[in-house]
Amino acid sequence: MKKLIYSLLFLIGVSSCNNKETKTYHLVIFNATIVDVENNDLKEGQTIFISEDEIVEVSDYRDKDSYTSKEEIDAHGKFVMPGLWDNHVHFRGGDTLIQENKDLLPLFLAYGITTVRDAGGDITPSVMEWKDQIAKGKLNGPTIFSSGPKLDGDQPAWPGSIKVSDSSDIVTALDSLEKLEVDYVKMYDGNLSAENYYGIIKAAEERGLKTTGHMPMSADFMKAISLGLDGAEHMYYPLKACSPAADSLTRLNLGYGMIEPLIDTYDPELTDEVFAKMSEENVFVTPTLYIGKTLAEILEVNHQQDSLLDYIGPGIQQTYQGRIEGAKRAKASGSEMREKMEEISNRMIEPMQNAGVKILTGSDCGAFNSYVYPGESLHGELNALAEAGLTNAQVLKSSIINGPKFLNLGAKYGGVEEGKIADLLLLEENPLENLQHLNTITAVVKSGKVFNREDLRNMLQEIKRTKDRD
Ligand SMILES: [Zn+2]
Repeated sequence: MKKLIYSLLFLIGVSSCNNKETKTYHLVIFNATIVDVENNDLKEGQTIFISEDEIVEVSDYRDKDSYTSKEEIDAHGKFVMPGLWDNHVHFRGGDTLIQENKDLLPLFLAYGITTVRDAGGDITPSVMEWKDQIAKGKLNGPTIFSSGPKLDGDQPAWPGSIKVSDSSDIVTALDSLEKLEVDYVKMYDGNLSAENYYGIIKAAEERGLKTTGHMPMSADFMKAISLGLDGAEHMYYPLKACSPAADSLTRLNLGYGMIEPLIDTYDPELTDEVFAKMSEENVFVTPTLYIGKTLAEILEVNHQQDSLLDYIGPGIQQTYQGRIEGAKRAKASGSEMREKMEEISNRMIEPMQNAGVKILTGSDCGAFNSYVYPGESLHGELNALAEAGLTNAQVLKSSIINGPKFLNLGAKYGGVEEGKIADLLLLEENPLENLQHLNTITAVVKSGKVFNREDLRNMLQEIKRTKDRD
């Protein structure tokens, strides 16, 4: 009897719930065609239920009476996919350029980029402040993950770097990065020694910190991998491992002068072994093809009429001069390093992908990286990877799935699914069919907040106004 009463009470409880309880959401997107990048597939007629900044349910069934929502979007005929990740950007240029860097944040959103991975600079306190403000919805911009300052030798290539000149500096350096609550460790090769490079990787591995960056050309990439290196920024370092002449060239102490002979001795068979090992050890590579091409052609292309210059502050524009001077010096010395590097990098992409190495899309945009504009440059990188042989789905995966994977955030990002952060793009056309369709954005949802086309246009106008006022 008791059992029966309980059962009855239970049934009443459930049914009264069903009658009374209407769920409340912040945003509901219905009639959506979801772009499933992982499976290179589309799911039509989907409803996406969003609370705060999270997707709480995705369903092909929508009972209009069962919920209320503060905002609804009819996505009939639209394609919905996760927001793009630019996995290599820079905020930098010293205190006088802090405001110009900050002004560029909405430019990422306007191009559908809802997350950036900052690869180190000299204005870390500001970057961390923006990161916090963006997370709280007080500032319009992409979610920021940052390495904080780079780790380099005692004559760092970039200002603001933390100096590691002997092994005892490693503990201090990693302590200070942990205090800054950085998301990963970026190493640089101004004059970081191979020994300290290895030391940083080992110590970071023990602390559970991810490491990536440049590698001193004196170091051995495969050894770094065996010590726990998690990533390589740019193609120089995987390239070094793909030449049987690497060891003898290392003994000549040529620095980046080693690149041309490395390319000349590039060995496809050795490359297959290297990529298999990289895949096995879960090493990510950010090829940065687009900046490679932009810098290789910098003396031939006239950028003065670039419409994107309208958004770039005068201080950052001034920093663009450095790469032009560098290219002139390289040309005068007869170096064809950048041109050859561009060619070999393109050649390495497809075998790298086929071996299962995780590729990350990164633009390397930021001050000093001339004419590589925030936002547009990521699209340049996506197209460059497609031209190098990746399928559209593979390209998109390198941005929106591998990006979070590198930071162990695969549970929160990478799909339009329950439990993921509501960072979404609404597109007129299917991006799996053609990457140019990424330019058909009708709305960007950032952490559940909707920016429609007009909002995005206004944000761009505001950047122009701010820039012209300065
Ligand atoms: Zn960079």
